[in-house]
Amino acid sequence: MIRETGVKHRSGNKCVQGQMYSMKPGNRPFIELRLQDTEVYQGLLVLVNRDHPVRHQEQQTEKLPGYILRSMHAEEPDISLERTCLHQLAALIDACEATDKITVVSGYRSSRKQRQIYESTLASHGEAFTASYVALPGASEHQTGLAVDVGLLDRELDYIRPSFSGEGASGVFRDLAPVYGFIQRYQEGKEEVTGIACEPWHYRYVGYPHAAIMEQRGLCLEEYTGYVKDFPWGIRHLCYEDGERVYEIYYVKATGEETDVPIVTGGSAEWSGNNQDGYIITVSRTDRNQEQA
Ligand SMILES: [Zn+2]
Repeated sequence: MIRETGVKHRSGNKCVQGQMYSMKPGNRPFIELRLQDTEVYQGLLVLVNRDHPVRHQEQQTEKLPGYILRSMHAEEPDISLERTCLHQLAALIDACEATDKITVVSGYRSSRKQRQIYESTLASHGEAFTASYVALPGASEHQTGLAVDVGLLDRELDYIRPSFSGEGASGVFRDLAPVYGFIQRYQEGKEEVTGIACEPWHYRYVGYPHAAIMEQRGLCLEEYTGYVKDFPWGIRHLCYEDGERVYEIYYVKATGEETDVPIVTGGSAEWSGNNQDGYIITVSRTDRNQEQA
C-alpha cells in the first residue's frame, strides 16, 4: 500500500485532508452489472474535446433558478444543466455566500446552439479568437450539460469570456469547487493537452472525489481519464480517503456491445463512461477508522 498525503481542502468550514493510495484488491466480493456499449459515452466523467466529440446527444437537463442566471446571448435565453451538476453548483455558490456576486452565463447547449454560437463568434471576433475560446460544434463540453460558465456580477460581463479572475468571490469559488465536484477545466499550462486557452470562468462537473484528486494531482480531464486506466479492475485500485468516506476507483474496458462490469459490494457504487473505451467505477463506503472512533 503506497500512501501519500494530498493538499488540504476546505469543506464548508472544516478542512479535509484527502489521502490517496493504490491497493491490490485481492479477492473482493463483487456483483456484475451488464452495461451497453452506448453507456461508454454517458456519465459524469465523459471526456469531450476535439478528438472525442459528444456521442450521446439527448441530455436530461433542468432549468436554472432565476437567482443564479444572467441571460446574455440570444441563443441562450434560458440556461439549463444536468441535474446533479445544477444542484451541486447551487450548493457551491451558496457555500461561497456569493448568490449576489456570482452568476451563470452559459450552460447546456444543443449541437445546433453550439454551431450558432461558433458561427456568430467567428463573424464578430475572427478565426484566432474563436479557435481559442469556442469549441467546434460536437466538441463542446457544454453539449453534455456538465459544463458551466460563471462570471462576477460586479464586473462588466462578457458572454464568451466572463470575468472570473480568481480575486474575491471567484477565488473562494475556485478553492471550494473540487469539494463540490467541479474542476476549472481549461487551466494555464495545459493548453497543449486540452487544445483550449486558459478559461478561468469555465467549470466542469466531474463529481467528488474525482475533482479533488484531479486538483491534488494537477491533472486535467484528458490526463485523469488516462491516469484511471492505470487502475484496472482486480489488478490495482485507486483509493481516496477524506476522513469520512473511503472511495475505491477502478477502470473496466468495454469489450463489445455488452460488458459485464464487476462492482465491488459493501458500498454505494457509481459508474460513468469515459467517452473513449470503457467505464470508471467509484465505490464509496464509510471510513472504517471513523466508525471505530
Ligand atoms: Zn464554457
